[in-house]
Amino acid sequence: MSEKPQVPLFSAVRANAGLDLIGPLARVVDRHWYVLGEEVRNFEREFARYVGVEHCISVANGSDALELALRAVGVENGSKVVAVANAGFYGSTAIRALGALPVYVEIDPASLTMCPRALEQTLEHRPAAIIVTHLYGRLADIESIADMARIAGIPLVEDCAQAHGARLGSRQAGSFGDVACFSFYPTKNLGALGDGGAVLCNDDSLDVRLRQLRQYGWSSKYHVAVPGGRNSRMDELQAAVLREKLPHLDSWNAQRKAIARRYSAAFRELGLEVPEVGDDYVAHLYVLQVPQRAHFVSSLAEHGIATDIHYPVADYLQAAYSPAPEFSLPLTEAACASVVSLPCFPGLSDAEVQQVIDAVVAYFNSEDQPC
Ligand SMILES: *Cc1c(COP(=O)(O)O)cnc(C)c1O
Repeated sequence: MSEKPQVPLFSAVRANAGLDLIGPLARVVDRHWYVLGEEVRNFEREFARYVGVEHCISVANGSDALELALRAVGVENGSKVVAVANAGFYGSTAIRALGALPVYVEIDPASLTMCPRALEQTLEHRPAAIIVTHLYGRLADIESIADMARIAGIPLVEDCAQAHGARLGSRQAGSFGDVACFSFYPTKNLGALGDGGAVLCNDDSLDVRLRQLRQYGWSSKYHVAVPGGRNSRMDELQAAVLREKLPHLDSWNAQRKAIARRYSAAFRELGLEVPEVGDDYVAHLYVLQVPQRAHFVSSLAEHGIATDIHYPVADYLQAAYSPAPEFSLPLTEAACASVVSLPCFPGLSDAEVQQVIDAVVAYFNSEDQPC
């Protein structure tokens, strides 16, 4: 229908353009040391320094990071863990894997992250942990939430899988809670050439426990000191790639934010609620809320614009875990029904950003827009 080129939601080709990734890979291949070696040790040190915390324990992916973090802070079979229900089920996957039970809290309708007042009401359940997700790259109301968790004596796990480099003053995503989890999946703000993840913390004994948990529960070779261990290690190849990419993270985030700023300036004129682009938002995803979403999505597709929905189903409505018909979080469900993500990634050209803006403006100015 459209003659215009397609604008993708993400492009690995462009995200990695201009980087020498063969060099780091060759270095590992030549060394013939593939697991828990020099690259992993160096990446852990460099990433901990970047985030501003003491310890970084790399693992196989972001989901394992969440699961091991929960286990390390004491979550076990039957424990309750507080989480939001609009963040793609990743936290829930970790909670369920441990046999723990999620206690879902409502979101703030403006930021789409955990509502601190709603959190307060769940603390009477005496949860064993709280997972706070910095969704779309925006810091949640992290100072209020961290204060509440500390006063209640409940461990706080930050899910930073979308928020590498997001800041509040001099502090970064991952430095507010007891433990922080990152993913280095290729589309994340810092992405490997495959899976990768990390848990970060300041506490020395948590550091030791996490290192044991990621490798069979070993305290030393073949000596199993903690229960619940497994194999979840980042390999040297991915660590070498991530070391090559980490120095570029801030400039890539700046590119994402420049795109988000252009979008927000243009869409504000249309009277839409738009993301504010400050230090606390690294624009992992640029998300609008559109009531007649299906119509909007197909209109953008006609203009060659790819979109996606992050995320369409509230965690407590996922079929695998027998949804309870009476449970409902209205603001969460309203978000799930209306969110739509626009292309926003480093390497998106000025012309493509304009193409997206034109398509969105055309939709909201069109006569046939349903009311
Ligand atoms: C991607 C993501 C994860 C999971 O990371 P994987 O590396 O894919 O396992 C967890 N939480 C959030 C918010 C994510 O976006």
